[in-house]
Amino acid sequence: MSDFAARVLTWFDVHGRTDLPWQQDVSAYRVWVSEIMLQQTQVQTVIPYFEKFMQRFPDVVSLAEAKQDEVLSYWSGLGYYARARNLYKAAQQICSNHGGRFPDDFDAVTALPGIGRSTAGAILALTFGQRHAILDGNVKRVLARHDAVAGWPGNTKVANELWAAAERNTPQTRIAEYTQAIMDLGATLCTRSKPACKTCPVSDDCLARQWDSIEKFPGKKPKAAKPLRTTTMVLASMNGQVFLERRPETGIWGGLWSLPELGDSSLDDWCDRELGVAATHTESWGVLRHSFSHYDLDIQPIVVRMQSVASKVGEADARIWHKLDAAPPGGFAAPVKKLIEQLKKGEHVTHR
Ligand code: SF4
Repeated sequence: MSDFAARVLTWFDVHGRTDLPWQQDVSAYRVWVSEIMLQQTQVQTVIPYFEKFMQRFPDVVSLAEAKQDEVLSYWSGLGYYARARNLYKAAQQICSNHGGRFPDDFDAVTALPGIGRSTAGAILALTFGQRHAILDGNVKRVLARHDAVAGWPGNTKVANELWAAAERNTPQTRIAEYTQAIMDLGATLCTRSKPACKTCPVSDDCLARQWDSIEKFPGKKPKAAKPLRTTTMVLASMNGQVFLERRPETGIWGGLWSLPELGDSSLDDWCDRELGVAATHTESWGVLRHSFSHYDLDIQPIVVRMQSVASKVGEADARIWHKLDAAPPGGFAAPVKKLIEQLKKGEHVTHR
């Protein structure tokens, strides 16, 4: 047995949890349901759900014969309902393909809906003592820190490294205890924040601890690049006033006052259509970037200066000529406010 496993088991013999409901009357069915419930949910939250679920669906057959709506009602409040739908579907497959008995063969278990490599390994190890490595969220955290495996575990290369560590550490004997022990260690000692390293049985050779860089492991998911959208805003300026439009109630900056956007029009067409003047005396400012949570918006401001306009703008509610030194007519979105301020100061602006 590896030194790592021996130390984890010695710790488990003293501190391990043995009183959880799914650790009593152990069966593949009970372990399966508990593992699925525990996938995204804390132990303390799961316990009452597990107990009620077992009272109503004590075995695979009772689950398979129920209506899906009723199964979902027993899941209500646990969230991630795809778990319950897969559980129900899997129960039906176990009835039709395995005579109602939960299979004890790894490939047959991983073929069931909602059961991946780690969950299958945990069920078979905890129930039948079969030697399978597991790598749930808690175990990933322990191994990534102990072996200083850099990178996000969602990345295949990183996951392969973690699986290799999990395989290496899994002992040949006391499989069920070790499986429970490594999960417990992650859940109770090697917690996401403030791990209890002082009482951890594998702290002596934990690389993340030695390097004082526990918070770097496991690596975080890289942030996806935000999409970039572009728009052109017109600062139509006349005698100390700027032309504004109120935005529709729905969509970004709903109901706020804004500078008109060109959309698909050319500046000439826009000036002709909206103001009844030719687009003379124009200047482009530098692009101003505004970040929303889901995308970045690059705003190209174009200033059009004029002495008078031909069309009757300013009479409709949603469009006004706003005096630059008057109080704002309502709310402005931050970049619009910035552009109006710059127009007021008479700046020619380069934003980037
Ligand atoms: S020493 Fe600390 S960081 Fe390392 S495995 Fe133990 S609890 Fe986790």
